[in-house]
Amino acid sequence: MIVVMNSGANKIQIDNVLTRLENLGFKIHLSEGVERTIIGAIGDKSILNEVALEAMPGVEKVVPILQPYKLVSREFKSRDSVVKVDNLEFGGKKIHIMAGPCAVESREQLMESAEAVARAGATILRGGAFKPRTSPYAFQGLEEEGLQMLAEAREKTGLKIVTEVVDPRNVELVAKYADILQIGARNMQNFFLLKEVSIANKPVLLKRGPSATIEEWLMAAEYVMSGGNYNVILCERGVRTFETYLRNTLDLSAVPVAKHLSHLPVIVDPSHAVGKWQFVKPMALAAVAAGADGLIIEVHPNPAQALCDGPQSLTPEHFEELMNDIRKMAETMEREL
Ligand code: PEP
Ligand code: MN
Repeated sequence: MIVVMNSGANKIQIDNVLTRLENLGFKIHLSEGVERTIIGAIGDKSILNEVALEAMPGVEKVVPILQPYKLVSREFKSRDSVVKVDNLEFGGKKIHIMAGPCAVESREQLMESAEAVARAGATILRGGAFKPRTSPYAFQGLEEEGLQMLAEAREKTGLKIVTEVVDPRNVELVAKYADILQIGARNMQNFFLLKEVSIANKPVLLKRGPSATIEEWLMAAEYVMSGGNYNVILCERGVRTFETYLRNTLDLSAVPVAKHLSHLPVIVDPSHAVGKWQFVKPMALAAVAAGADGLIIEVHPNPAQALCDGPQSLTPEHFEELMNDIRKMAETMEREL
């Protein structure tokens, strides 16, 4: 539930409400605005009647949150959240493009990719050092050596780094190098991993599971937020349907729906959605038109030689063309690139 305090409520009144709620076992999330203080309280609301919170001095009203996800919901926070990645802001006017190879394969491959995507206007470099692969015989990633290369690419280009963490035991290690911790689609409901990133001091990019409903996806975000990490960026990357021509079916309606139900920023991964580079551009542009706050796109200097996801990777030339088109679409949508 949300306890809205009067605009004139004083500190003692606010502290009294907080103490009352805490003594009853509620978990508190405080939002101190310029106008008024709003207290989010998560716990057993069946005891609410006994508490008679609305009668306490300084309380304007008590509003229950009807959705199963609480901190994530628009009911909890009506205004869009802006997630900060150092000096970059997700969820504001600017659209951010994350781009780079599926996997970090070598220093040369990564540096070439990083320089190309930075030149074209991306602000974040993507690249997996731990790769969740369908086959145990496929390339599994360079692990810490890959993370070090990502950090080196950041030094050289100024790009921020997003990279996937697949194991709760590696969260600390990945957080040491990354600016954003990526939770992959296959791990969206790995609740131990979600709990671990909820106590990491880094923003989280939470991909939607291939078979997850929007509600399950938002519940996964609730795990991260309820642990204390409010910096969550949602990512739609296609879901599994009866259609087999493409790798997945991009559920673009999930963008406005997630933004309607939640205050969190939402980005789109057209690369993993379509699986074929020819279709990345139309879906990237459509995602911006649908209101996405950013995109994550695979780019490889030589897609034919890629160790992972070559068929869906754009060449640096195609990526540059795409960025020019995204710029125009962003302008149409009154956004900035
Ligand atoms: C990725 O971004 O490299 C990746 C593995 O994506 P997903 O988790 O969406 O399949
Ligand atoms: Mn990939």
